[in-house]
Amino acid sequence: MKPADSQRLCILVPDSCGPDVTSIGRNYTNALLRVGYLPLVVPLTADAEAIRQAVTLSDGLLLPGGEDDVDPALYGESPVPEIGPVNEVRDRFERALLAEMVRQHKPVLGICRGIQVINVFFGGTLWQDLPTQLPHYDIEHQRPDQKWSGVHDIQILPQSHLHALLGVDTASVNSTHHQAVRDVAPDFQVAARSADGVIEAIESSLHAVLGVQFHPERLATGDDKIFTSLFRQAFRR
Ligand code: MN
Repeated sequence: MKPADSQRLCILVPDSCGPDVTSIGRNYTNALLRVGYLPLVVPLTADAEAIRQAVTLSDGLLLPGGEDDVDPALYGESPVPEIGPVNEVRDRFERALLAEMVRQHKPVLGICRGIQVINVFFGGTLWQDLPTQLPHYDIEHQRPDQKWSGVHDIQILPQSHLHALLGVDTASVNSTHHQAVRDVAPDFQVAARSADGVIEAIESSLHAVLGVQFHPERLATGDDKIFTSLFRQAFRR
């Protein structure tokens, strides 16, 4: 049992998980530190006891983005040719963390790949490649040239928890993804969409689990109250 005034800890998975080096972008650690969470960066492991202990210590879990696509076998599909690299070790690790967070009733925020990991873990599916599977969509969602600023709007559903966190009906978000949520997992709701219908946020009706397709950690600068607020409050449920 931790003392009540101890530092809040948020488990953070490395966003770059190569065979020899794992690393985490400072945009994630800075955003957490800015809102009063000490990032507890946990390297990929299959050790169930280590995962259990990390979750027991923590006050929340942040599943970040990254280059790896979720293995489509996890939602019953074969890979399309346009799929990116798949990292089965990372998939297994993040799913084990999620299972333990839910078991211990602790909150989870998923960002970019994180929303996709969450949706698949709870039984949903993904668009494996938006440009080829939804070619008629008119918003370009893969905009790494504009990582730090809004490139498209999202509509936030009025009854959603996300709406309560952000306090706005629309927001301009960054967008660096070629995949997206397709079929929403059972007991999850869409919390935000872009104008072309692509799902930009989901949330659980059973657990404190929220996923966003954009990157609030790159938008949550000192003067951005909306996304700083999202970070501050996402883990306090
Ligand atoms: Mn987008």
